[in-house]
Amino acid sequence: MNILKKIYCRIYQTCFKLAIPLLPYRSPKIIELENLNNILSKESIKKLFIITDNNLIKLINPILNSLNINYFVYDKVKPNPTINDVEAARISYLDNNCEGILAIGGGSVIDLAKICGARVVKPKKSIQKMEGLLHICKKLPPLIVIPTTAGTGSETTLAAVITDEVNNHKYPINDFSLIPNYTIFIPELIMDLPSHITSTTGMDALTHAIEAFIGRSTTKKTRYYAIKAVKLIVENLKETYDNPHNLKARTNMLYAAHYAGIAFTISYVGYIHAIAHSLGGKYKTPHGLANAIILPIMLEIYGKKVYKKLAFLARETNIADDTDDNAVASKKFINYIYNLNKEMNIPNKLKDIKDEDIPLMAFYANKEANPLYPVPLLLDKNELENIYYIIRGQDE
Ligand SMILES: [Zn+2]
Repeated sequence: MNILKKIYCRIYQTCFKLAIPLLPYRSPKIIELENLNNILSKESIKKLFIITDNNLIKLINPILNSLNINYFVYDKVKPNPTINDVEAARISYLDNNCEGILAIGGGSVIDLAKICGARVVKPKKSIQKMEGLLHICKKLPPLIVIPTTAGTGSETTLAAVITDEVNNHKYPINDFSLIPNYTIFIPELIMDLPSHITSTTGMDALTHAIEAFIGRSTTKKTRYYAIKAVKLIVENLKETYDNPHNLKARTNMLYAAHYAGIAFTISYVGYIHAIAHSLGGKYKTPHGLANAIILPIMLEIYGKKVYKKLAFLARETNIADDTDDNAVASKKFINYIYNLNKEMNIPNKLKDIKDEDIPLMAFYANKEANPLYPVPLLLDKNELENIYYIIRGQDE
């Protein structure tokens, strides 16, 4: 990246960092399932719009049966929700005169619920015009989230990701109003997740924590939560993969994903996410899988810029000890990630990337990340293009 662009990016990021204490960040209130009816009555919700995917219907029946109020179940959510999917949900919400949303699902369900809520209160603003930062700025209907994966942290973030199916463009919408009001953790709901979902969503959470931590806009609070998340993931992710019914480990992973969410919603993600979104938009590569593969590769590319911070994480998690210098400790941490992927049967390359698609994907990744993400090392579109070749596993 040329020097003028670098200066522009760093000034832009510094302004956002200085603004952090002034911005209305909040976290959802963590409540028990037993209190859900009280919350609904406190929020004066007479009819609840429940967004989920139809694979979960059997699993969530006990929750539905416990509700004291009317509800409508919208269960047509697919992975990587599109603009049309949100519009269909919004019409259903309005047709059924609902007054609040309960999202039960993984990242796709939660993101669709957030954007559906945004469209309900902003009927004249298209989803395309919500792309980027602070284009909603209006209170959504009450949103309660029960996550069924331990990864996205979407129940605590101001981000929602949507795919424009016409342009194969997947992009985040960021607004404080998208932060849900309440969340409920039910580890039993995630006990029987397919093992590849357990592994890749867990790696998504790890990527959130690490990208937030190595970025240049951390605060005392976000460092605290990022470190806490990394420790919990190192201690519990492999265990949930090997012993999926270990409820304690499942609960720890729900909290890990939540803490990582708190960290990155304030301190941002970085190029790993920007590239993963571009791959998701073009090839529908599952988000967690893309992040898992890109994470160690990108950390190696960052090189010396992240030695100190990765070494700190390595020592905190006992992956390295005090006798290792920063370079050695940082490499141990990256090798730990490569090994963790391998042990959970996650591939180390994405072989389906096509040459002809790389320029447009790099364009989108550049557009998403620069100047917003306070990454340790700035890369322009051409430099980002090279990374797709590395991720594919062939030289340019
Ligand atoms: Zn993510």
